[in-house]
Amino acid sequence: MRLEGKVALVTGAARGIGEAIARAFAAEGAFVYVSDIDQGNGYAVAQSLGHSASFVPLDVRSEIEWRETTEAIIQKHGKLDILVNNAGITGFEGDDVPHDPENASLEAWRSVHETNLDGVFLGCKYAIRAMRGSGTGSIINISSRSGIVGIPTAAAYASSKAAVRNHTKSVALYCAQQGMKVRCNSIHPAAILTPMWEPMLGSGPDRESNMAMFVQDTPLRRFGMPEEVAAVAVMLAADESSYITGAEINIDGGILAGSAAAPSQ
Ligand code: NAD
Repeated sequence: MRLEGKVALVTGAARGIGEAIARAFAAEGAFVYVSDIDQGNGYAVAQSLGHSASFVPLDVRSEIEWRETTEAIIQKHGKLDILVNNAGITGFEGDDVPHDPENASLEAWRSVHETNLDGVFLGCKYAIRAMRGSGTGSIINISSRSGIVGIPTAAAYASSKAAVRNHTKSVALYCAQQGMKVRCNSIHPAAILTPMWEPMLGSGPDRESNMAMFVQDTPLRRFGMPEEVAAVAVMLAADESSYITGAEINIDGGILAGSAAAPSQ
């Protein structure tokens, strides 16, 4: 019960990593607001958690919805202890134009940044305001390994995630300057097996070989599981990480550790 008595809001929690984080937080004793634009699945996740959770529809691109959601939480609980800015998109779905630096459309570029970056900016803004009352809290931004290295085929996604990494540090420093015990850290996952991957993996006989292809450069040679990311989020949300702020934690099976080049190369 590392999060007993804490109130948490998780965005994009209807499935994938966000759902796993919501479940882990509830298992550790927190009351969790499961939020998403996918109301059907979001409601089902919250319902399955019984008295430990409630669903709240929240489109992270909407400033009005952020204001209303955080004000409603403060009204009900008097505090917000944890925010996880998890909602994110690749922007590939329904877009035939490649997302490389030469061909990506300005429309797609802006749309990816609107969810992945503007959404995180708004989340941090309203979480800081909500956490001012108690003066304590933990903001966790889900960036990506793509926020640390360039990704030529997903330039908009990589740019948005790099900005999330940097904004996390601005938020951490701002809160410290303000004398608040509000910490802000980023998590950088890679190759986590969630529905985000399904269009690329397929369900046919090629699925196994597709999976092997995507993890061939991953030192641990497998996909990570959403629960493994959730475990890191629990640690950053709990008081045990009270001296960690402005930090970035990779959870990527070793990809960012570097290539295993032989000494002669
Ligand atoms: P997913 O696609 O399975 O789930 C994302 C959820 O976000 C969905 O429920 C979706 O409805 C919701 N969402 C989308 N737009 C939204 C909006 N405007 N407002 C509110 N909710 C919205 O994705 P996932 O794999 O679980 O990824 C979660 C986070 O982790 C994302 O930020 C993603 O970029 C990041 N990430 C994932 C991986 C991976 O390999 N899965 C790797 C690195 C980073």
